[in-house]
Amino acid sequence: MISTQVRLARRPHGEPDDATFSFVEEQLPDPADGQLLLRVVYLSLDPYMRGRMSAAESYAEPVEVGDVLVGGTVCEVVESRHPSYDAGDFVLSYSGWQSYALSDGRGLRKLDPTSAPISTALGVLGMPGFTAYAGLLEIGRPQPGETVVVAAATGPVGSAVGQIARIKGGRAVGIAGGPAKCAALIDEFGFDAAVDHRSPDFAASLAAAVPDGIDVYFENVGGHVAREVFRLLNLYARVPVCGLVADYNATDAPQGVDRLPGFMRRVLSKSLTVRGFIQSEFTKVHGRDFVRDMSAWVADGSVRYREDIVVGLEQAPEAFRGMLAGRNFGKVLVQVSDDPTR
Ligand code: NDP
Repeated sequence: MISTQVRLARRPHGEPDDATFSFVEEQLPDPADGQLLLRVVYLSLDPYMRGRMSAAESYAEPVEVGDVLVGGTVCEVVESRHPSYDAGDFVLSYSGWQSYALSDGRGLRKLDPTSAPISTALGVLGMPGFTAYAGLLEIGRPQPGETVVVAAATGPVGSAVGQIARIKGGRAVGIAGGPAKCAALIDEFGFDAAVDHRSPDFAASLAAAVPDGIDVYFENVGGHVAREVFRLLNLYARVPVCGLVADYNATDAPQGVDRLPGFMRRVLSKSLTVRGFIQSEFTKVHGRDFVRDMSAWVADGSVRYREDIVVGLEQAPEAFRGMLAGRNFGKVLVQVSDDPTR
């Protein structure tokens, strides 16, 4: 079997350009005893992958130059010499940016295509949905009547954060780039208010959207959005720090005034809780509850999701750049091959 692989050709400086990626055809051996051959149906593109392309110190090891880029996938089992899987099964895997992969079964999870579309295992019912659920409930702890603000709000993490906040009785305010995304926040995802961070009157619109201040800021982006939000935080506000996507392509530390003393003064004077997290730390505590709650919410329509599917592995580099720049509209998936369940 020939697998088309996307490998890290060189580490990017700033936005990953085409020279960051190389496309290679790799001959895979036949599966040995205990192995399975997987056909990748969907590849998930996620902002964390930018960190893996860099050698800078992080919570996870970088991808080595020359290696296949990592990533979550939904695959169909083509051939199985593993006792727990049969040809035709669908599995959640971590087989990366490639069209076929061999697996020894470790880390695979069987999916039931009759209970939810298989693609949702990479979005609302998968890692991004879990990130929203665990980060919001464990650190944000929204109380009825409180105001919860989240940016990148039409993405898989942000859209789930706002909808879960409302289920818990909070008021959800979403920040997104552009009028179409802001309209979707209200009409599609049921947020109470939406603010366009690209608009020139962003700061004033944000202040108007949170008349009672902000009790929970779920931090997805950093940058100019975080600067404006921090001014509006209430006493005892909680800030789960989930991601800082505004800076993932940054090549230098920001120039200008040192804002750290002002930030720390606010942390002190408002008794803020600012707590970073990586979703995997909460798997043991919240994993089961997430599956139970989110499956029920998706099934009864109280949590909705949006997918942005590009077709063809060759589209992955451009789709990845687009996601970091906000050209995506929903969870970014690359459809690598036919989805027989759709
Ligand atoms: P999204 O699909 O929402 O894509 C990223 C979005 O970020 C873009 O669509 C864009 O939306 C927004 N964005 C980009 N640049 C800026 C900017 N300068 N200012 C404001 N917004 C910007 O991503 P995900 O939902 O997958 O991830 C959201 C965040 O969660 C990321 O920071 C990611 O790294 C983090 N994350 C963290 C995890 C953890 O364990 N801590 C796990 C999973 C995700 P728009 O057009 O609306 O501006």
